[in-house]
Amino acid sequence: KMSYDKNNIFAKILRGEIPCNKIYENDHVLAFHDINPQKKIHALVIPKGEYIDLDDFNKKASDKEIVELNKAISHVSNILKASEKGYRILSNIGLDGGQEVPHLHYHIFAGEKVGKMVT
Ligand code: AMP
Repeated sequence: KMSYDKNNIFAKILRGEIPCNKIYENDHVLAFHDINPQKKIHALVIPKGEYIDLDDFNKKASDKEIVELNKAISHVSNILKASEKGYRILSNIGLDGGQEVPHLHYHIFAGEKVGKMVT
């Protein structure tokens, strides 16, 4: 499997080289609004560590990082008031998964009916 690409766009956001519309940050995670929202609310939650996707993360990340990323999804959904009416989380992995940015990210879709599960 390929190695982590330090020049991916989320790595640049984490280094502060390009801006993001930040929602939440702590020692382990960063959450920001997707630049090309597919729903009224479309946020991204990413670990600060260098992980390509969920498989890579679950293999290499510490228990603390894994817990913090999971908790951050709920925390960000609360900040966005998404948890009140429901929302969808999604993580694309690899080619068939349609992953475009090779740094693990969870999408949060909310603010309206999200629609059918996959297209
Ligand atoms: P994926 O196809 O799961 O890899 O999703 C990548 C997501 O990153 C897409 O929804 C893009 O719109 C989003 N994206 C790409 N560049 C940026 C950026 N600079 N700031 C925020 N979101 C971005």
